[in-house]
Amino acid sequence: MRKPIIAGNWKMNKNCKESIDFIQAVAAKVPVADKVETVICAPAVNLCCMVKEQGSDLRIGAQNMHFEANGAFTGEIAPSMLTDIGVEYVVIGHSERREMFGETDEIVNKKTKAALAAGLTPIVCCGEPLEVREAGTTNALVDEQMVKGLAGLTADEVKKTVIAYEPIWAIGTGKVATDEQANETIGYIRSVIAREHGQDVADAIRIQYGGSVKPETVAGLMAQPEIDGALVGGASLDVESFLGLLDF
Ligand code: 13P
Repeated sequence: MRKPIIAGNWKMNKNCKESIDFIQAVAAKVPVADKVETVICAPAVNLCCMVKEQGSDLRIGAQNMHFEANGAFTGEIAPSMLTDIGVEYVVIGHSERREMFGETDEIVNKKTKAALAAGLTPIVCCGEPLEVREAGTTNALVDEQMVKGLAGLTADEVKKTVIAYEPIWAIGTGKVATDEQANETIGYIRSVIAREHGQDVADAIRIQYGGSVKPETVAGLMAQPEIDGALVGGASLDVESFLGLLDF
């Protein structure tokens, strides 16, 4: 049985006070961690304060990190700097980082390995732009993203990884993939994991859907057999809406 995982991705939103206020409002209300893993991925400068307020059932994640352990990488953050302050998750290869900051599958692979080596749970993102969906080549693209992104990982490492399937055309647009579309592509991603890393790994790995998920749409997605959670941007920014996402 795969434990559901709902993660908010705040992107470049909320200052320190807003982050703390949010955490204090939700920490005691999130479901017990045994049932649902609840994560907030916040801007790096707020992570340290947020960890202190997280309570027992809420976990904190970063939205990016560098793959090197330290050195002359101005502006970057090392994996061990995240674990040192109690951060437990990190989003890797979000489409916004791929599109705006030039992250390739090779970089995603290095970051995923570095995150796992540091003891972080990577949330590795994949997903297609509209023209790929319309050309009918979504499976080929996510196949390549998964093969390259998870290359060289052990079976245990892949099991610990969380995948987020986020069709780019559904991010921030209000256009949700239908439950069936999301389930179908996530099922295909699971078949790629089975082919590359073994059936037991594919059965264990959790795959989220992301892209305009709202409290009103989360239950339908979560009822699909292949979908193990959601990675949510806009609807994770408001306290009531965030709590609504956990009530699926
Ligand atoms: P929205 O939920 O705002 O569409 O964002 C999805 C996303 O990119 C989460 O990583």
